[in-house]
Amino acid sequence: MITSSAIEDLKSRFQGKLMVPADPQYDAARRVFNAAIDRRPALIAQCAGADDVTQALNFAREQNLLVAVRGTGHNVAGFAVCDEGLVVDLTAMKGIEVDPQARTVRVEGGCTWGEVNDALQPFALAATGGFVSVTGVSGLTLGGGLGWLVRKHGLALDNLLSAEVVLADGQQVMASADENEELFWAIRGGGGNFGVVTSFIFQAHPLGAVLAGIVLHPAAVASDAIRRWRELEGGAPDESTQGALLFHFPDDPSGPPSLRGAPVVGLGGVYAGALKDGEKLLRPLREHESKLVDTFQPMPYNAAQRMADFLWPAGLYNYWKSSFLTTLSDAAIDVFVDWFARVPSKRTVIVLEHNGDSAWDRVPDGATAFGSRAWPYNFVVTSAWSNPQESEQNISWTRGLFAALRPYLAPGAYVNYLGGDEGVEGLEAAYGRKLARLAAIKGKFDPANLFRLNQNIAPALVQGREATALG
Ligand SMILES: Cc1cc2nc3c(=O)[nH]c(=O)nc-3n(C[C@H](O)[C@H](O)[C@H](O)COP(=O)(O)OP(=O)(O)OC[C@H]3O[C@@H](n4cnc5c(N)ncnc54)[C@H](O)[C@@H]3O)c2cc1C
Repeated sequence: MITSSAIEDLKSRFQGKLMVPADPQYDAARRVFNAAIDRRPALIAQCAGADDVTQALNFAREQNLLVAVRGTGHNVAGFAVCDEGLVVDLTAMKGIEVDPQARTVRVEGGCTWGEVNDALQPFALAATGGFVSVTGVSGLTLGGGLGWLVRKHGLALDNLLSAEVVLADGQQVMASADENEELFWAIRGGGGNFGVVTSFIFQAHPLGAVLAGIVLHPAAVASDAIRRWRELEGGAPDESTQGALLFHFPDDPSGPPSLRGAPVVGLGGVYAGALKDGEKLLRPLREHESKLVDTFQPMPYNAAQRMADFLWPAGLYNYWKSSFLTTLSDAAIDVFVDWFARVPSKRTVIVLEHNGDSAWDRVPDGATAFGSRAWPYNFVVTSAWSNPQESEQNISWTRGLFAALRPYLAPGAYVNYLGGDEGVEGLEAAYGRKLARLAAIKGKFDPANLFRLNQNIAPALVQGREATALG
């Protein structure tokens, strides 16, 4: 129980908004992307800046409260909200400052990637961000950051130049290659384990129009289509980041009647180089007899980042499974296609990504805390449904597909795509042999594990005794 006098006292030192369950805005403020997460914090501290974050963390420590940190609340595991504790909510921290000369952008912790690329576009600059516009800069960057420029410019975290961080003891520090280097290494992959990042400075990149879009084919030819995409990926230059997706076309009256609700395979993405080179490269994807739709066209990068938004609306029940693959074999493709034919929900999307042989895996392995770049192919099954009574059926289908893929799974996973029920296995897959170093840095910056609502790295050397990296 937090007393109202304690809250009043905090209010006198707090610039932002404090919300308790009786507040009319409380329900909207506790909601996250995944409707399956329904938690009721004792207090939501919607911060106006770094000083508010310091005040909120000091209050949480004094009151012995569980702490959740919210960038924009997109993590499907629901780490951005807790029961009973305190949410350090950054959603009102929306500052973005572009420096066109230095080609950098300073971004506060509550921004989405769409907002950042909208601010960069007038300067013909872009930041890699994610594959959709709505995800949070914070969580996405701290775990990795796969987006449409990943093969050209690496992960979002590879483009991070510095960060302002509020540590567990409330102290505000900078982290960069020259300042608090260990912390800078750890936050580039180690997620929210080390502190609350209140702002980031990213390298942005000059970028004119990109060639972006998707070609849809009926799901009946999915096996052939995905093999064709894999062939193209074999020799693709860094400028090209394309994916393969299995999904149902939205059952929306504004769509073409022949496609509404139909199962399809989509091949597409972004070519961020000379348009004529992109046209030539992508011809095998676009000029196939089975195609139903081809949306490829030149567009600004901020528009390209929005083109897949329709596939992942907020407010559905979500359960995700993901892993890197040792290789994308014919047999693995057949497993995806066979299981998709039996998917219980038309809102579920299977995404296949190819990041390898590009700027992404030319970053030295030890340069950041990001788990492993050894595996070129990655997948994420984003199961989503609208009726909570269908949860068991959808979760069980997702687990079944994942089990069928076991022979092809690499010993590595992307931490931001984990669903939250993987436990130690997920942590080991995400960080591998980097876990011990991360645990040592965690022990230094957050020995009491205040930041534990995340893919939690237990601090080594807790209270003078050796802890294992897994707690
Ligand atoms: C629809 C959808 C599409 C996605 N697409 C992509 C994609 O294209 N590429 C990709 O790489 N990932 C993608 N993701 C995964 C995404 O990277 C994670 O969900 C990420 O956590 C979202 O960031 P957020 O700030 O919204 O996280 P939140 O849910 O707000 O926070 C998640 C956790 O991140 C940590 N955190 C958040 N902000 C801070 C901060 N400022 N300081 C310290 N810790 C913090 C905390 O531990 C927090 O609990 C997608 C997710 C969704 C739901």
